[in-house]
Amino acid sequence: MIPEQPDLFADLQPLVEQEKEVDSKQAIINYGTENHEEQGTGTYMSFLPGLKTEQAWLDIKDFDQLKSTAGNCTLCRLRSTCNGVVFGEGPVNSRMMLIGEGPGHDEDLSGRPFVGKAGQLLDKILLAAEIKREDIYIANVVKCRPPQNRLPDAEEVKICKGYLEAQIRLIKPKLIICLGALASQVVIDPQARISKIRGKWFHRGGIKIMAVFHPAALLRNSDYKRPTWEDFKLIRDEYYSSVK
Ligand code: SF4
Repeated sequence: MIPEQPDLFADLQPLVEQEKEVDSKQAIINYGTENHEEQGTGTYMSFLPGLKTEQAWLDIKDFDQLKSTAGNCTLCRLRSTCNGVVFGEGPVNSRMMLIGEGPGHDEDLSGRPFVGKAGQLLDKILLAAEIKREDIYIANVVKCRPPQNRLPDAEEVKICKGYLEAQIRLIKPKLIICLGALASQVVIDPQARISKIRGKWFHRGGIKIMAVFHPAALLRNSDYKRPTWEDFKLIRDEYYSSVK
């Protein structure tokens, strides 16, 4: 059953109704394949660009062990100012991962990703796209809240992103959606500009990756709503075709 469109997309309703008639042109770009998962040669090729092998937690094969390790992590300074580690949530066999930048105030208190205002908007977007939040895995680049909700800095990202690499390796999603500029730069390309690359599929190691605007950016700028909905239509189509 098609869910009721949330208010967020009320002004996009005509677009929603037209979508089945529109042959939406997915801009599929074949991204370099030099970074991908284990090759079976004994050499580990990281999924995330620039990640060193020793950062990839290759000795951890079990997801609960990874979560427990991250939960006790004090590798960077962010742990000294946050309430707790927000590792991520969702089924370990999810077909799709959503990746944001880092926990905010509400996430830090609850221990769950994307539960504040931006998270509530993300829930509405997923509902409109007919994707159940409980079926997908949601994580962040850094697992501890940066003070005053600032962006994590380069050093914090460099130290923490090994957990994200291991999450991707163990979950083996078919699709990864990067929410915002930082996640796009960590997952797709360090030089990525969200306004240029959003809405396009990148391919790496058998996984399709797309960048979209961060929900918090939509709260600040309503001009981002329409392109984001167009991106999520592509995501929804790919998500359901990945079941076949
Ligand atoms: S942000 Fe990441 S690396 Fe830093 S303490 Fe938290 S889990 Fe460890």
